[in-house]
Amino acid sequence: MNYDIAIIGGGIIGLSTAWNIQNKFPQKSITILEKEPQIAQHQTGHNSGVIHSGIYYKPNSKKAKTCRAGIFLLEKFCKINEIPFKKCGKVIVATKHEELPNLQKLYENGKQNNLQGLEIIQKDQLREIEQNTAGIQALLVPETGVVDYTKVSQKLAEIIEKNGGKIQTGFRVTEIKCEHKRFILRSSNEEITANFLINASGLYSDRIARMASVQTEIQIIPFRGEYFRLNQEGEKLVNTLIYPVPNPSMPFLGVHFTKNIAGEVSIGPSAVLALAREGYRKMDIQPTDLAEILTTPAFWKLIKQIGKFASGEILRSFSKKAFVKAAQKMVPAITTNHIAEFESGVRAQAISKDGQLLDDFAIVQVENQIHILNAPSPAATASLAIGKSIADLIH
Ligand SMILES: Cc1cc2nc3c(=O)[nH]c(=O)nc-3n(C[C@H](O)[C@H](O)[C@H](O)COP(=O)(O)OP(=O)(O)OC[C@H]3O[C@@H](n4cnc5c(N)ncnc54)[C@H](O)[C@@H]3O)c2cc1C
Repeated sequence: MNYDIAIIGGGIIGLSTAWNIQNKFPQKSITILEKEPQIAQHQTGHNSGVIHSGIYYKPNSKKAKTCRAGIFLLEKFCKINEIPFKKCGKVIVATKHEELPNLQKLYENGKQNNLQGLEIIQKDQLREIEQNTAGIQALLVPETGVVDYTKVSQKLAEIIEKNGGKIQTGFRVTEIKCEHKRFILRSSNEEITANFLINASGLYSDRIARMASVQTEIQIIPFRGEYFRLNQEGEKLVNTLIYPVPNPSMPFLGVHFTKNIAGEVSIGPSAVLALAREGYRKMDIQPTDLAEILTTPAFWKLIKQIGKFASGEILRSFSKKAFVKAAQKMVPAITTNHIAEFESGVRAQAISKDGQLLDDFAIVQVENQIHILNAPSPAATASLAIGKSIADLIH
């Protein structure tokens, strides 16, 4: 079967891209190839479920622009398709005086990114919102929300199929050939051809790019994010979303409290190196993935830069007590009795040749192929805008 466009990856980015292309070019034939038996089984189905406001991202970056545009598109999509979401707001809490300058910088950054209703609040006002926090000052971010990204993805898949698109699950792309400007995509037992290729394969996006003969210096390093869940007693201590002031040199937001759309409260995620690209458990090791990480010079350069941060994260990963201690900085009443292990997710974090964590989204076009090589958080929030920007690259 020959398609106008083949998309590798049935996560929220691949799905949003297909939906946006269908909206722009209803006549084009599209297929999504997904290796799992169902869509949204990786980053899209294992995240915090937060609709990010755009406060953290560098003004004018792709992250800032698509996150802001994405919120609007996502909320509209949810309303039309009756997917529950909540604009619950969040507080970013400073617990030490040293954190106040960074809190102020975040406020200014948010203003530059056009966030509405931002406010620096003092202790008493913070206590009115979150009675159990220990902050000395906080940033109130009313535009933050929560949603279930798996539900959003399932609805996108339903519409794509209704519009004539074909989602082929259980199709792991293992070989890509290009002959006379047409791609031949093979799994172990199937083959399709396409005139245009889009790589939205998340944790495998660098490998898929190389498979398609696109030379990229970007390497994906998997970072596992582990969560704990509060029990019923613990849930009473948290009303909405409570975040720490993040380390400005890291793309991770720090251990935070999230009351998701189902009303469950999670604490996390941590950020520890995963020893397999889909290593959801501590002991999941994939020898090829591990060997690749350890033999990449850029990885060792990265470790040199983030060694101290990484050791703190590893400690919290192996010690429930250390994890609780980090959470207690914001909510002192939390104890180990309130929490139980929850799920984890693995982030596809791209690094450059010189070992820098790539901050912004990275989308590369080479003739009739587009590769999404870095789409970490807030890519779920921004997904509908990212998909639109990719559809705009196609003529
Ligand atoms: C712990 C964690 C917390 C996060 N929290 C948030 C949040 O609160 N808000 C937010 O906006 N973002 C959040 N994110 C980020 C967000 O989840 C991701 O940016 C987004 O889901 C990326 O979507 P994707 O489609 O690119 O990747 P994925 O969802 O990983 O999809 C890629 C797909 O490609 C498939 N695939 C890979 N290789 C092949 C192959 N060879 N053949 C066929 N298929 C293949 C995979 O099976 C997978 O389904 C979080 C991420 C993590 C991990």
